[in-house]
Amino acid sequence: MTFPSRMDHDTAPYWQGLAEKALRITRCQQCAHWIHPPRACCPGCWSDDIKLEEPSGRATLYSYLVQPTEPGGPPAVVGWAELEEQERLFIVARIEGATSETVAIGSELTLDWAEAGDTFLPIFRQGARL
Ligand SMILES: [Zn+2]
Repeated sequence: MTFPSRMDHDTAPYWQGLAEKALRITRCQQCAHWIHPPRACCPGCWSDDIKLEEPSGRATLYSYLVQPTEPGGPPAVVGWAELEEQERLFIVARIEGATSETVAIGSELTLDWAEAGDTFLPIFRQGARL
């Protein structure tokens, strides 16, 4: 698969997870702090005892922007999905199916996946908790 240029030693497991449709977030095993983007060291307690764990996929829309796609096409809504596991633990992803009229800060989000070449990208949908 093709990895994005921003992949490095610390973020490679995150990108590899996406290719398997798995959202794997690094988490400190000493203080249980979730860390994203991935780092080799916990910003809370400086431990390097970091492991990948899978969050529930449930989130709340913290903020968003509406971004043009191609000329004449519908604009895309890109959201800051705050995962339920921790305050300010964000995944920035497309809010599929949302428009500038229907997107709502504070709405419940559910993780889904979009194909992107030979990998997958996390997307979120408003409402419909599983
Ligand atoms: Zn820690």
